[in-house]
Amino acid sequence: MAAETESAVPSSDPPVGAGDAQPDLLPVRMLNEFAYCPRLGTLMWADGEWAPSLDTRQGLFTHRRVDKGDRRAVPESDAPPEEPLHARSVSLSAPGEGLTAKLDLLELDGPVATPVDYKKGKAPDLPEGAYEPERVQLCAQGLILRENGYRCDEGVLYFAGSRRRVSIPFDDALVERTRELAAAFRLAAANDRLPPPLKDSPKCPRCSLVGICLPDETNLLSAEAADEHTGGALHRKPRKLLPALSEALPLYVQQQGAFVGKSGDRLTVKLEGKKLTDARLLDVSQICLFGNVMLSAPAISELARRGTPICHFSYGGWLNAITTGLAHKNIALRIRQFEVAADPAASLGIARGIVAGKVRNQRTLLRRQLKERDKGDRNHPALTALDDYRQRAEHTTEAGSLLGLEGMAAKTYFAEFFGLLPPWSRGDTNGRNRRPPTDPANAVLSFLYSLLTKELHVAVQSVGFDPMLGVFHRPRYGRPSLALDLAEEFRPLVADSATLMLFNNGELSEESFLSRAGAVALTDAGRRSVIAAFERRLAQEVTHPIFGYRIVYRRVLEVQARLLARAVTGEIEHYPAFTTR
Ligand code: SF4
Repeated sequence: MAAETESAVPSSDPPVGAGDAQPDLLPVRMLNEFAYCPRLGTLMWADGEWAPSLDTRQGLFTHRRVDKGDRRAVPESDAPPEEPLHARSVSLSAPGEGLTAKLDLLELDGPVATPVDYKKGKAPDLPEGAYEPERVQLCAQGLILRENGYRCDEGVLYFAGSRRRVSIPFDDALVERTRELAAAFRLAAANDRLPPPLKDSPKCPRCSLVGICLPDETNLLSAEAADEHTGGALHRKPRKLLPALSEALPLYVQQQGAFVGKSGDRLTVKLEGKKLTDARLLDVSQICLFGNVMLSAPAISELARRGTPICHFSYGGWLNAITTGLAHKNIALRIRQFEVAADPAASLGIARGIVAGKVRNQRTLLRRQLKERDKGDRNHPALTALDDYRQRAEHTTEAGSLLGLEGMAAKTYFAEFFGLLPPWSRGDTNGRNRRPPTDPANAVLSFLYSLLTKELHVAVQSVGFDPMLGVFHRPRYGRPSLALDLAEEFRPLVADSATLMLFNNGELSEESFLSRAGAVALTDAGRRSVIAAFERRLAQEVTHPIFGYRIVYRRVLEVQARLLARAVTGEIEHYPAFTTR
């Protein structure tokens, strides 16, 4: 018999089976998710997606006792125990059924085995004793026990909220339903396409993956695309289901010679043995290290385990590397990404949206700024030209011409943009220059674009993309093309607007810069001001132009990466660039 006891799972871990199961054996915990919603089960098992929610945290708290495991050996079924025996946290598998499980509690009485599953809530008032997902999960445990030679006619659900044991008989109907769902789950997991999101379901607001699934947003965009073809009616706007959880923020360390270590569940930053700051690991979404900053091996290991990226910048602010844990499990998305990148028409379809979105945002920023400066001139030649470039970008059928339009729009835009900055900041060129920047304005823009690329790199990677393969920026050694693609529409909205604020509000002065051999760089204090402005901008709320709800820019970046994945896999027809009015 394949049975063993396991030790505790740390409370921050995803539930057993999320993203780490053998492909042939279906974890019964995942079967519960699939019974709740086929898309949820597939996202978790096939794509390895996981996000904590209040519910999942409470669930892990309820399991803390059983997860400790008493490590007592479970006797073979052909040598049943003489006395009744209880074993906690027992891992079992049944290759014939294609199932695997970690049982919270196994009660053995002679040849009779009873699985006990712990649930956090109160026992529901239902004739069947529990909802179908819980009954199916328990029944699957029973099938595993049967295949291992035990007699198992019923299981028990223990509801911690009401401290009640509810017996669930494994009758023929439940066994058949369990096997039917397991077969459907395998089919769904083998399919490149996710099962569709539920429509207006009350299950979604409680779902831990709602921010990843985007059910209402995906339904709206699919329905609007269908309407384009059928001329149908308008659709309900999405509910705002994106979870408020995940208040974690980046930790920036730029003190040269600093050392970042792990102490319990905290990261500690020290310089020459003296503590500079510390932060709970839970509160750190990513760690950004500038120049000569060291990180301990335990800290690297823990950050990788939690999926928290480590972003390595040069002292001057160039993004050199991003260290992450294992690659995302969603290989089907990467296969589609490579197919789309190799298909000129499909790539151009997405790239058109990105470039048109960027030009629209450039025009909006200029329009607002010129309105203040020139008391409103809607016929300003730059605005007219940008409108024209945007429209041509939307309809072009040539990748080369799209590139040209983007370049011409950038030239028109920056000719006006630099005029909005104080003269001391913008040098002689009065336009973009880089590698190295030769004036303060360009030094700030380059650093902000680097920070923005880092954010998008993390976002596309966390969705499951390969950040190096884009649709607009063609592949080049060492270039995170997809991150650069997605950064395009956000350059005016995040980086350029932060630049205007920094210079025009007096947050940067000539003392914030160093000049060496014609190259201009930020001082430590100047870089701190830029990082602060960047973070402020990401924390700013904006009304989503399509979905209509308020959302912070940091979340918008992630949502756009997920919508790009939906467009690449064909779940929605077009990639909708993020634009403001
Ligand atoms: S958000 Fe709704 S549709 Fe999406 S996985 Fe969860 S329950 Fe299913």
